Amino acid sequence: MRRHLISILGLISILTACQSEPNGKKNERTLILTTTGMLGDAVKNLCGPSAEVKVMMGPGVDPHLYKASQGDMQLISEADIIVYNGLHLEGKLVEILEKTARTKPVIVAGEFIDKSQVLVSENAGSAPDPHIWMNVDLWSAAISGVADTLEKLIPANAEQIKANADTYSAKLGRLNAEIDSLIHQIPESGRVLITSHDAFRYFGEAYSIEVKGLQGISTVSEYGLRDVSDMANLIIDRKIKSVFIETSVSSKSLQSVISTCQAKGWNVKIGGTLYSDSMGEDGTPDGTYEGMLRHNALTIFEALK
Ligand SMILES: [Zn+2]
Repeated sequence: MRRHLISILGLISILTACQSEPNGKKNERTLILTTTGMLGDAVKNLCGPSAEVKVMMGPGVDPHLYKASQGDMQLISEADIIVYNGLHLEGKLVEILEKTARTKPVIVAGEFIDKSQVLVSENAGSAPDPHIWMNVDLWSAAISGVADTLEKLIPANAEQIKANADTYSAKLGRLNAEIDSLIHQIPESGRVLITSHDAFRYFGEAYSIEVKGLQGISTVSEYGLRDVSDMANLIIDRKIKSVFIETSVSSKSLQSVISTCQAKGWNVKIGGTLYSDSMGEDGTPDGTYEGMLRHNALTIFEALK
């Protein structure tokens, strides 16, 4: 991380020079490229109109499997600054992003989180769990780190970014309290969240809800018949009413859990669709980080209360 920061700081002067170039083409808004929508939303909130923010992965896109398109490669080369999640989320992009970090500022949000707070996978060796946006407080800490770095990289707008970061952080604080209150209203015995892949462990830890995913923390891992039958038994034993589909993962695996339960005489329903690794459509409330998390909390509350 230190090495990253040093290389980033070394590039500040270059960026400042671009910004102040009189009447030059470069003297426009800073172009910031993010991998996920959640990061795009944060950077838009931090920079306001002073930056043009582009997001690589749109609604419904699975970041674990995402490969850079020709257009992405173009964007990566045009961007002034790149922001990505890290912690192995963008598994197929890491090589390109690390290579790009040698020539321009690349910010890794996951590096701003204290290592002791990063969960590790139970079934994939010691791989870090990348889904840090699911704990609003933890995400807020990561975004503060991104904000500090952006202030250094874009000194002309540092004051504005700092003020925006304070506003955004206060908003996330309120969101955190709202989600916490909703989830705690679900009776404790029924507070179990079952989804296709393990994207919600940070959510579970932060808001005291037990979380079970059929696949591991990455959608790259396969699930087997054994997993389906284990999951079905758990649902029946615990009398769980609902399971949840994710927008960025196929629902096939959960459908087979539901049929297995039904064959054994337990009628478990689909409690709704949750946003796990991507946000909702642009221009809708769910197309923001805040809206995405609120939608999830409300959906879980309604189905399990
Ligand atoms: Zn995921």
